[in-house]
Formats: sequence, structure tokens, C-alpha cells
Amino acid sequence: MEIKVCKACGFILDTRPNMKSENGICLSCLNKDRKNSIDWKERQKWLTAYIEKTRNRNVEWDCVVGVSGGKDSCAIVKRLFECHGVKKALLVHFCDEFTPSLAGLHNLDNLAKKYNLDLINFRCAPQTFVEETKKSFFEELHPLKWIESQLYSKPLEIAAAFNIPLVFMGENPAFEYGESEECEIFHPASNEKTKVIFMGSIWPYSNIDSLEQAEKMGFKQLSDFDDWQRQGSIDDFTQIDSKGYMIQHWTKFIKFGFQRVSDMACRFVREGKLTKEQALQLIKDSDYICDPLAKKDFCRTIGITVQEFDETVDKFANKDILVKDANGKWRRKDLL
Ligand SMILES: [Zn+2]
Repeated sequence: MEIKVCKACGFILDTRPNMKSENGICLSCLNKDRKNSIDWKERQKWLTAYIEKTRNRNVEWDCVVGVSGGKDSCAIVKRLFECHGVKKALLVHFCDEFTPSLAGLHNLDNLAKKYNLDLINFRCAPQTFVEETKKSFFEELHPLKWIESQLYSKPLEIAAAFNIPLVFMGENPAFEYGESEECEIFHPASNEKTKVIFMGSIWPYSNIDSLEQAEKMGFKQLSDFDDWQRQGSIDDFTQIDSKGYMIQHWTKFIKFGFQRVSDMACRFVREGKLTKEQALQLIKDSDYICDPLAKKDFCRTIGITVQEFDETVDKFANKDILVKDANGKWRRKDLL
């Protein structure tokens, strides 16, 4: 199989499920230009009016915000309060069973304190988490399939239970990850009673923008603490909440030939912070690396051995695009 990369950003083409490309350019890059034709000011005005219109005056909260505590959560909350007239929001956080990072703990605590918000810390049934994670790891090498579905469905269920009309989420993943040309405002799970809105469809989403907003609120990066010097990643401010969770991303490298380094480096190209050549070098140097602490935390949490982990990874490795190097690590054939 010939391995092709996007001519504009360097992202591997034809392996990410549902990701589209045209003439050798990924849809994420094409969507970057589409962002320029969206009237963001108009969408922002619309949202302020929409919140006012849908506010349920018999309910204490205007909206639910599903929060990880990460930079995007901070940016959403900040804008809802400072730009869109939200008076009270209910934060809903999901903890997985992995070890939280010190930065993640700080950020979640800081987010609630900053605007003095109610926060539900939702812990999904721990034994179910372990069983489901183990099952989808062994059967599909898609370990966090179950918890990710919970992350999407639970904020809606909680909003419905409290009669809260609106739920906010961050970026619109279909648009940002090149599956759709439309930057839809409403999440497809929206229903009559509860609407789910992507803030990334109201304010043009970028990592740098989210980080700037979040840092104004006291957001801290991994490097501000010393519990986790993360490997297999080129930033210290995305997906930093818990350690074992990183395995979900790394398994994508094994199946599709990309993980967080590709995602972030290519985004930085689109955001003007890196050249395509710099991104390709970073991808070559570190996208294959499995963070040792994340692997340890993952195996311990779901109760499997490192040998079981490695054997499962070998079984699912995409041999069309990957090959083992001299150190026994799976690497992309085209980047060796
Ligand atoms: Zn691209």
C-alpha cells in the first residue's frame, strides 16, 4: 500500500475512518479556508439571543457544559459568561478510572472556582468501565469506546433530567477532523427538549485560541507540575487530564498510523505555527512513541499484564503501513 500524506499539512491520508480528501489535500485543510467564509460575528450574535430565548426561568441553570477541565472547557465557559450572557451553568465532568494528572486536577478545580459554578463529577460505574475497556481493547484495540460514548450521552441525559434546555461542547469534530464540509452548530444528538451546541461552530476553533482563553483563567499545563513528563506528544496542554487515557490515542497509531503528534503537528501547520516539513519531522520522531507512564497506568487500571498489552497491539498492528524497527517498536514504513 502506498502511503500518501496531505500536500498541505502532512497528515497521513486514507487511513483515518471517514476522513475525506480532495486532490491530495485533507478536508481539515480545506475546511480551514471554509472558516474564512463563515460569518462568526453573526453566529455569536445569534447565540446570545438564542440563550436568552431558550432560558428556562423555572430552572436554576441556563445550560450544561460538559467539561474535561481542559483548555477547551475553560474557553467555552469563559465565553458563555463574558460574551453570551449566561448567568449560571452546570458543569458536568466525567472521571475515568485512570490516574488524574496534577494539572488536570488543578484545572477542573480552577474552572469551578473561577465563576463559582456547580459541578457534577460523574463517575461511571467503575467495574463496568474496567470490563468495557478491557473488552474493546482485546476485541478491537479501541479501548475507550464505551467511556467516549458516555462522554457524549451523559451530559444530555443530565440536562434532560434537570429540564435544562442547552448543552455546550467544544470543537465540532466532524468539521475539524475532515469528515464533513459543514460547520454545523447543533450536535446531531440534539432533540426537541435539549439542544447541543458546538462552541467551535460559534467561535472559530483553534488550539492556540483555546489555550490563550484558558490561560487567562488560570489554566495550567503539564509542565507546570512534575508528575508527568509526557512522551509521544508535542504539547503539554491537550488531553492532559488523565494518564492512561493516552493509550486510546496511541492505539490509533497502531491501527491507522497516526496519533496525537500527527493531530497536533498538522493542526499547528493549519494554524500557522509550523511548516509542513517541521510537522513531518516531529511525526517521524515521536508519533510512534507510547508514553511509558500512560501504558503502566492503563495496564494497572484494567488489570492486564504488559505482555498481554503488547501481544494485542501486535495482533492489530496495521502491517500495510507499519513495520517493527530494530528496537521492536512499530514505526511507519514511509518514515523510517
Ligand atoms: Zn491537510
